[in-house]
Amino acid sequence: MPIKTTNDTLNNLPIPERISYIFNCYAPEEILITSSFGTSSAFLLYHISRFNTKPDVHFINTGFHFSTTLQYRDELAHLFGLNIIDVKPDFEDHSYTEYEKLWQRDPDACCELNKVSPLEALKKKYKVWVTGLMAHQSDTREKISIVEVNPAILKFNPLFDEDPTKITDKLKKLKIPLHPLLEHGFESVGCMQCTDRGVGRDGRWQGLNKTECGLHNFQKKD
Ligand code: SF4
Repeated sequence: MPIKTTNDTLNNLPIPERISYIFNCYAPEEILITSSFGTSSAFLLYHISRFNTKPDVHFINTGFHFSTTLQYRDELAHLFGLNIIDVKPDFEDHSYTEYEKLWQRDPDACCELNKVSPLEALKKKYKVWVTGLMAHQSDTREKISIVEVNPAILKFNPLFDEDPTKITDKLKKLKIPLHPLLEHGFESVGCMQCTDRGVGRDGRWQGLNKTECGLHNFQKKD
């Protein structure tokens, strides 16, 4: 079925039916699930865990995360029955970025070595990549759709039309624990060096001309 037709059909379905669709189309071992275990991550993981028992969930572990994120990862893994797989950068690459404090002078290169490169290797093993991206999270994400043909892999964004400002309330209603840094004003959480308090994604890479880590290829705005 053409991608546009698939998207038109899925757009009208609620999240559980969208996720059901992808698990019906692909075997679990063909589906790559990643999570940053950030402030909105639990919402997607909650929905996935209702369809897939003990799903593999890959965490791009840069080695620069807050300890609270790692604790939150483990808490959600226990709650949802997730099999967490840490995806780590090459040891020498990571050491270089740490020694050089590369995030200060070349954050794109730092993200490339610690995040993008490890994920690229992983993507080759799967047919479809399920993400928690939402179009209204930022200008760069505004053109995403549920199903996208990425150069290396099919992407599936079942939350693409969710309002990110409402996710926290939805998690509370579901009695799902929140990321501990949320109550301290961090609405988006990534690596320690590149995360500050802020509304939406404003706290990421503050003061730099950078809004994304490079894991995703977004279409440019018209
Ligand atoms: S978010 Fe910052 S510290 Fe983390 S990999 Fe990217 S530049 Fe490096």
